[in-house]
Amino acid sequence: MYDQQNVFAKILRRELPCRVVYEDDEVLAFYDAFPKAPIHVLVIPKGEFISFDDFISASPVGVASFFSKVAHVIDLLGVKEAGYRLVTNHGKDGGQIVKHFHVHILAGKRMSDVA
Ligand code: AMP
Repeated sequence: MYDQQNVFAKILRRELPCRVVYEDDEVLAFYDAFPKAPIHVLVIPKGEFISFDDFISASPVGVASFFSKVAHVIDLLGVKEAGYRLVTNHGKDGGQIVKHFHVHILAGKRMSDVA
């Protein structure tokens, strides 16, 4: 069950602040508050999806559209040429902490281990 009180739900409702990179009616992209790389941006859908697993089951078309927005954010960040890492965590072994689906965009250094 989706928890309306998770941190990213609060960010979407503007109950908590964030540094916005990009926003439209489907997604919000903002800087991670505890960056694991020189550039660390999170992209989240505005729909109530707990994780990738939940999102792909509910709306495969929505996932496709979402990832095209992720590509747009990557363009805005200007990291395509140097490279970047995309990460999304699901569940306990995946290490997911915030239970609102999100993709991490990590860039700005050579990454050698899982972020
Ligand atoms: P995950 O482990 O995939 O659930 O990652 C959650 C991410 O959310 C972590 O990288 C946190 O640093 C980040 N985070 C937690 N709280 C905030 C916040 N208020 N604003 C921005 N990023 C946050």
